[in-house]
Amino acid sequence: MNSAAFGFSLIRNIQCYSRQLPRSSNSLLQQTHCKASLSSTQEKDSDCFLSQVESTVESIFHHYQIATNDTNRSRNEILHGISETKNRQEVSIAFNVHTRLQALRKNNDCPRCWMQRKHCTCSLVSAQKLPMINKIYILIHHKEIGLKVDTAKLILQTFPDQCQLVVAGIGPIHQKSMMEFQTIVQNNNNNQCLILFPDDDAQTIHEITAQQQQQPQQQQRKTNGWDLIVIDGTWAQARKLYSKYIPTIDNGGPQRVQLSEQAVSALSNTNTTNPGYQLRRHVITWRQISTFEAIRLFLLDLLPQNDTDTTVLAEQMQSYQIITNQAVKRELGPLR
Ligand SMILES: [Zn+2]
Repeated sequence: MNSAAFGFSLIRNIQCYSRQLPRSSNSLLQQTHCKASLSSTQEKDSDCFLSQVESTVESIFHHYQIATNDTNRSRNEILHGISETKNRQEVSIAFNVHTRLQALRKNNDCPRCWMQRKHCTCSLVSAQKLPMINKIYILIHHKEIGLKVDTAKLILQTFPDQCQLVVAGIGPIHQKSMMEFQTIVQNNNNNQCLILFPDDDAQTIHEITAQQQQQPQQQQRKTNGWDLIVIDGTWAQARKLYSKYIPTIDNGGPQRVQLSEQAVSALSNTNTTNPGYQLRRHVITWRQISTFEAIRLFLLDLLPQNDTDTTVLAEQMQSYQIITNQAVKRELGPLR
C-alpha cells in the first residue's frame, strides 16, 4: 500500500453574519436549549457550531428573500430563478442543510452530538485541548451535517475551543468561518498551516519540520503552533473539496501532511474492529478510518513519543470514539 494512503475525513467551522439578522423565534438552538438536559459549558461551547450553521442558512434565505414556509414557490422554482451557478449551489445547500436541521429539531435530537436524547454522549465526552495546534479547520461536506455516523461532531465536541467549522459550497458572505478559512488556506507564508490529506506530495510532520529547519533563519516559522485543516466527507466528496478549495503549495497553499509509516502500519495491522474505523463500509480499508481517528494518529506523530500527556489524550480520544460508535450502533442498529 502506498504510504501516502491513509484515511482522513473532514473539518469545519461555521460562523456567519447572524448578528445582522433577527433570529427566528423557533430556532433550533432556542428549542433545544429549553429542552436539553445538559447544562454544562460544554453544551454552550459546541452547540454554537450547529447554531452557526443555522444562522448561515438563515442569512442565505434572508439574502434571497426565501421564506421556508413559502408553499407558493417550489424549491426548484426558487433555484431556477437564480442565474449564477455559484449562488444557486449555495442556496441549494442551504435548503439541504435546513432540512437536516429541521429533522434534528423535530426529533429533539441533541444539537451537540447529533444523537437521540436517549443515546446522547455529551456527558461522557469532555472538552480537551490539542497541544501544538492553534486551530482546526473542518471543511465539511454539507451532507455530513447532522449525520449520526459522521465524526466531525466528535472533533467539535472534543476540541470546541480550537475548531472552526466550514461548510463547503457556502461562500464567505454568509459564513465568516469560510472567510477565515480562505485567508489561511491561500496565504501560507509563515508555514504554519497543514492539511491532513494523502496527496502525492504529502510529507510526514517529521519531514516537514526537518525541511523547515534547513531553511534560512528569516524563513523559519515564528511559532511552534500549527493550523490544521481536515476535510470531512466520504472519500469521493473529500477529493472534490480538496481540488476545489486547497491551492497548491506553489500558489501559497498549505503543506500537505500525511501519517507516518508507523501510523499507517498500525492501521494495516488492525482490523475493522478498531474503534477508529468509520461506521460505514468502504471497499478500500484505509478509507474507512474516521476523520477523528486520523487526527488522533496525527497527534501521535506530532507530539513527543512516550509522553504521558500524549498517551492520556490519545487514549481519551480513543475512548470517545468507542463511546460514539456504541451510541450510533444503539441508535441505528448493526452495520449494514
Ligand atoms: Zn449530546
